[in-house]
Amino acid sequence: MPPVIVAIDGPSGSGKSSVSKGVASRLGFEYLDTGAMYRAVTWWALENHIGTDEIAGRLDDCAIISGTDPAAPFVTVNAVDVSEAIRTPEVTAAVSRYSAVPQVRTMLVQMQREAAGNAGKGLVAEGRDLGTVVFPDANLKVYLTADVQARAERRAAENAERGHDADVTDTHQSLAARDAADSGRAVSPLQVAEDAVEVDATFMTLPEVIDHVAALVLEHS
Ligand code: C5P
Repeated sequence: MPPVIVAIDGPSGSGKSSVSKGVASRLGFEYLDTGAMYRAVTWWALENHIGTDEIAGRLDDCAIISGTDPAAPFVTVNAVDVSEAIRTPEVTAAVSRYSAVPQVRTMLVQMQREAAGNAGKGLVAEGRDLGTVVFPDANLKVYLTADVQARAERRAAENAERGHDADVTDTHQSLAARDAADSGRAVSPLQVAEDAVEVDATFMTLPEVIDHVAALVLEHS
């Protein structure tokens, strides 16, 4: 049996990571945080002062590995664990620019498809273009969304836990700017796949969303 592929897309702060990890753990599937991969490339570019105009020719020097255990996800760049370093405001502010570079996307999409090929029972992958571009034949596509204020409050609380700027107004602005950039770019913009199930999590608790998506996976596999 080929692995069951679950593609979860949606805007920043919609709860994709928590929902995807929860669903993967519940079903014994692997988990892939594709946003972490784009953040890792961005972290590496910033560390090495590589601009978006020159990154295409430098990608051979950027070796990314993503851990796919939903209980202990991680990402490394050239064997350095950057799982925390990729969450800084500097990386967050720059990631939409680097993720719009076509060669960056080509490299990471290939890795994402390889991860799916190697997943045992199944894979829950989350990002912006998984249902539309990376896994057009996914067993289930979910577009997870929530009201922008609810997303800003959730992301600000996460920022506070990490010791970063936790101001809800700043977080709201940063989310809105990233959503606009991710939705407006020419290559693989964030959009709802035609055959995606839309889930609005504004008034749902995390366990409710996990239950709902896990039930959808069972229906679709
Ligand atoms: O999911 P997260 O907010 O960590 O993603 C960080 C950024 O990576 C997004 O704002 C987007 O620019 C980019 N991204 C993407 N395609 C994906 C996943 C993330 O362009 N599949």
